Amino acid sequence: MSGHDQLTIVVAAFDEAHALPVLHPRIAAVMETLAADGIEARVLYVDDGSGDATWQVLQGIAAGDARVALLRLSRNFGKEVALTAGLDMVTEGAAMILDADGQDPPELIPQFVAHWRDGYDDVHGTRMSREGESWLKRSTAHLFYRVIQRLAKTPVPADTGDYRLLSPRALDALRQLRERHRFMKGLFGWIGFNRIAVPYARERRIAGNTKFGFWRLWNFALDGVTSFSTAPLRLATYVGVFTACGAIAFALYVIGKAWMYGDRVAGWPTMMAVILFLGAVQLVALGVIGEYLGRLYEESKQRPLYLVSAWRPAQGPGAMQAP
Ligand code: UDP
Ligand code: MG
Repeated sequence: MSGHDQLTIVVAAFDEAHALPVLHPRIAAVMETLAADGIEARVLYVDDGSGDATWQVLQGIAAGDARVALLRLSRNFGKEVALTAGLDMVTEGAAMILDADGQDPPELIPQFVAHWRDGYDDVHGTRMSREGESWLKRSTAHLFYRVIQRLAKTPVPADTGDYRLLSPRALDALRQLRERHRFMKGLFGWIGFNRIAVPYARERRIAGNTKFGFWRLWNFALDGVTSFSTAPLRLATYVGVFTACGAIAFALYVIGKAWMYGDRVAGWPTMMAVILFLGAVQLVALGVIGEYLGRLYEESKQRPLYLVSAWRPAQGPGAMQAP
């Protein structure tokens, strides 16, 4: 590749006023290293509608560093959409996605870039260990990656988050995927191209707490499954067929018994059990259909994915285009 490679580090931040002042000097140091290597690097911070001083902190950082661009969304849209907004801004060169809390060490970026220069399009960090995260989070995450790998036909590498580098053509491909329920890990997998993993140790948060509590992670998992698999719908069909077979067998038994021993009014407990069981199965199947229908409804509204409330381009060379 040429000596004029461009790299934009995209950082989504939601209430990270305490972490950013610690993170930025680390990123700045890495950008120096990259510059020495012929790569023009800059950083784009996306403020995902923070309620704390994140925006003020970011403006301070941008005032002191010409390589910094800022984007502020009109409200909190969630990490997946904030990243989409950031990546939409990167119209030249590659993009590197980084968490604002320092859990993805910026010091490893040169490794990602080296793979990019070797011709890889999707260089993703794979966590070998996770510091400072609860046993419950680690084990449910472990389970989730195994389930989604089974269900989805799209490759979703295990223990791999959003910490990754995307080549210009991977970015172009990703830009074409405008679905609303954005399960980014799956979208990255869907676009394909040349993929390689960079193993790393996930660090502790610099400050603050995770924004992904149990409930949010559960909904995130549901989004992942429903966006990349229709297996639950098929499962509902199988459960229906299975219960129907059971129902037919039971009906034959009841009719046979009445035929041989006469029809006495009895069997109220069995009838209740059967009615309740069938009712439950139907409700579960309806719920599964509803999950997909709801997403279809959201998708059909065709609203924009996000709204921008402020944009500050980098002051350095090769500034990005306005939204
Ligand atoms: N984040 C965001 N919008 C949100 C929630 C989180 O932009 O609505 C950012 C957050 O600032 C951080 C990254 O997404 O940079 C990962 O969030 P967090 O650390 O809470 O998740 P975890 O690392 O625990 O999975
Ligand atoms: Mg984090």
